[in-house]
Amino acid sequence: MILVTGGAGFIGANFILDWLSKSDEPVINLDTLSYAGNLESLASLHGDARHIFIRGDIADTALIASLLAEHQPRAIINFAAESHVDRSIHGPEDFIQTNIVGTFRLLEAVLGYWRAMADADKSKFRLLHVSTDEVYGSLDPGDAAFTETHQYQPNSPYSASKAASDHLVRAYHHTYGLPVLTTHCSNNYGPLHFPEKLIPLVIVNALADKPLPVYGDGRQVRDWLYVKDHCSALRRVLQNGRLGEVYNIGGGNEKLNIEIVKTLCRLLDELRPRADGKSYALQISYVTDRPGHDKRYAINASKIEHELGWRPEETFDTGIRKTVVWYLANPDWLANVQSGAYREWRGKQSAAP
Ligand code: NAD
Repeated sequence: MILVTGGAGFIGANFILDWLSKSDEPVINLDTLSYAGNLESLASLHGDARHIFIRGDIADTALIASLLAEHQPRAIINFAAESHVDRSIHGPEDFIQTNIVGTFRLLEAVLGYWRAMADADKSKFRLLHVSTDEVYGSLDPGDAAFTETHQYQPNSPYSASKAASDHLVRAYHHTYGLPVLTTHCSNNYGPLHFPEKLIPLVIVNALADKPLPVYGDGRQVRDWLYVKDHCSALRRVLQNGRLGEVYNIGGGNEKLNIEIVKTLCRLLDELRPRADGKSYALQISYVTDRPGHDKRYAINASKIEHELGWRPEETFDTGIRKTVVWYLANPDWLANVQSGAYREWRGKQSAAP
């Protein structure tokens, strides 16, 4: 049994589906079901006894302690977070609460659970904390990609809150001996991605005949990782990672944001041509840049590649095509996640993507 937090979100849901497609080991999924959590993503597991969903908050130490005591998981993967940079700019408080206070409370509950274990189980237990490359700050063109020892220089309330959570996880290892692993991944893309993030937003807006918003000059560089490759990396780290270590996970796909948008337009032109036969690229619209927008992220993933033998399976070309095909085939999922709280948030935004 493993415990996954934030398992109704984008990466967590992909992770659970991937895990249960390869193993019969059950998963407890603890998720508060914020606007980003969507059980529709796990509809294929309906009635599957291997998936136990619990609606709850990682900041609820008593709930976590009782879940741990009842289910006795051998490992925990912490995905639960507020994850959208734009939201952190408009309202940082939720980010402090979930990403910092929540991680702290989770660590407290896990420490109590781990300390009470028999020695044989104690040595097998591990907590994997999923973090981001954004904690390392921004690179200039030509700078070497982030390694695991790169200085922390978070620039948004989101990345600062993730950085704080990483430090707490590290401190619980060094101070109390809690067996932890931390990963820093680059931008994920793929199925089940909430349409406030660049790739799904462009697909959704293109199909709805809306502008395709690009921040500033669109020349920000991100390093893209297909979500299923991320899941395989996490399994590898959980299985063979050295306790207390940090692993960077990246797809080796540095792309300008504008390149991403144009690639999506080309794929949509091919797979779902506009009624007037013109290109979706006509819908591209440049909007005021996000404050403090990091210029470039790039991950050096050589540690996980050399130490754990992990490599991504998808190239950007194959991954992005699979992603567009998935969105075109799943309009119901999209309609479902774009209701209620999401519409309210979009209403409050000016032209920001
Ligand atoms: P997401 O926003 O899609 O999902 C987060 C999930 O956590 C949601 O289901 C939400 O309901 C749940 N959640 C929020 N607050 C909670 C709380 N207090 N208690 C329990 N559950 C709560 O995020 P994602 O894109 O799946 O990201 C997962 C993790 O990976 C995050 O920690 C994020 O920082 C990290 N990460 C994501 C990316 C990316 O490209 N998506 C890149 C780097 C790192």
